[in-house]
Amino acid sequence: MTAQTPPTKKEFCIDYPLYEQYTFAEEHLQAGWNVLFSQEPIDTYCPECNAHSIFHQHITGSILTSASSWVGSRRLGVLLRCSRDTDHQLYFLFDIEGRTMQKIGQHPSLAELNTYDVRQYSAVLSKADFKELTKAIGLAAHGVGVGSFVYLRRIFENLVNAAYQIAKSDSGWDEAAYQSGRMAERIQLLEGHLPEFLVENRSMYKILSKGVHELTEDECLAAFPVVKMGIELVLDEKLVAAAKQRKLEQATKAIHGLVSKAGA
Ligand SMILES: [Zn+2]
Repeated sequence: MTAQTPPTKKEFCIDYPLYEQYTFAEEHLQAGWNVLFSQEPIDTYCPECNAHSIFHQHITGSILTSASSWVGSRRLGVLLRCSRDTDHQLYFLFDIEGRTMQKIGQHPSLAELNTYDVRQYSAVLSKADFKELTKAIGLAAHGVGVGSFVYLRRIFENLVNAAYQIAKSDSGWDEAAYQSGRMAERIQLLEGHLPEFLVENRSMYKILSKGVHELTEDECLAAFPVVKMGIELVLDEKLVAAAKQRKLEQATKAIHGLVSKAGA
């Protein structure tokens, strides 16, 4: 995967699946150095605290100082320590070949580090979809591209379909265009019923229209974070809507209570 913006230390350690390669461009060598040596604080889930915490890299031995010094052929470990308790550690092992980096090992597992943040979504997903979401994260963590992607795609399609069920009763709804449209066009037609970010970046979801046999492992691993983020954006809005609904119900109850008291 070679994106425009190189991954940050946190993205490479926490979000990237194992074995996914990233080649840093000449002008992005500093970003590669940051992944391996930067002591910038990382805010992420600590399985031992069972909460988010701030981690810092623990450096032993000497640091390669120049931005390009990491380039070559070597293996380097990154040890992050929880600021609440230095015994809480996250360890990542990177393999470097030229300007290409990949994560070849880590502890705790990616699934353990990443499913915490999605646990909140069990409230707004069906049981089956939630199970598949955590399964997809676990599979991607082990570099299983197509398998994890197919789970994510199904959840994404279910969410788009839920938006469609509401949108199709809108006046001026173009059913024919929706039925014949590919995923990117469908997302556009559902503007107003899906998060704005998703609609603006709908071209990123073109890959969802491909058949399973057309997908490559690498393509799926590269698209994984984008599709996962799309799902999270939809679910974040659902969480907000659910919280608002609960508050409205409480307010209605409270008002009724007042009215009946005043009437007594
Ligand atoms: Zn901790």
